[in-house]
Amino acid sequence: MKEHVLPLPDEAATVAMGAALAKACDRASVIYLYGDLGAGKTTFCRGFLQGLGHQGKVKSPTFTLVEPYALHPLTVYHFDLYRLADPEELEFMGIRDYFVQDAICLVEWPQQGSGVLPEADLALYLSYHNQGRAAKIQAVSAYGSQLLERIHGQ
Ligand code: ADP
Ligand code: MG
Repeated sequence: MKEHVLPLPDEAATVAMGAALAKACDRASVIYLYGDLGAGKTTFCRGFLQGLGHQGKVKSPTFTLVEPYALHPLTVYHFDLYRLADPEELEFMGIRDYFVQDAICLVEWPQQGSGVLPEADLALYLSYHNQGRAAKIQAVSAYGSQLLERIHGQ
């Protein structure tokens, strides 16, 4: 599967990448976001949501685990599984109801839900790089490859 590495010299670059990816998503999609605390996962989600027209705040759903954004025609669910004690908790949350036809799921700390979380289309690995960050974007489904082609024009 395809992958790309992108330098993100400042916060605006992370926001712009999120917005670009959001505009490429035209159907249900699942994006996993990996990276240490502070690597820019929530910043990416803010860019993504703003790219779809969201104008309010984007707060990290660290305690609630998920925050919904109804952005017609799609709903975006922003997950942060950092505090998930056991992947089975996702079953109690009714995880299947979130991963549906008209939903985009952005998942921070997906490794915390491993085995229960549905498969991703794209996996984004954010890391510290000089003063800024870098992103490796990996397509992990056929649709994910299409998304990468759309944002990179290949
Ligand atoms: P995470 O959700 O991965 O813990 P956040 O998105 O909350 O991380 O980001 C933490 C900090 O990193 C924020 O202050 C944000 O402004 C900053 N940041 C995000 N992207 C970049 C970047 N490309 N370069 C420099 N700082 C960044
Ligand atoms: Mg975060």
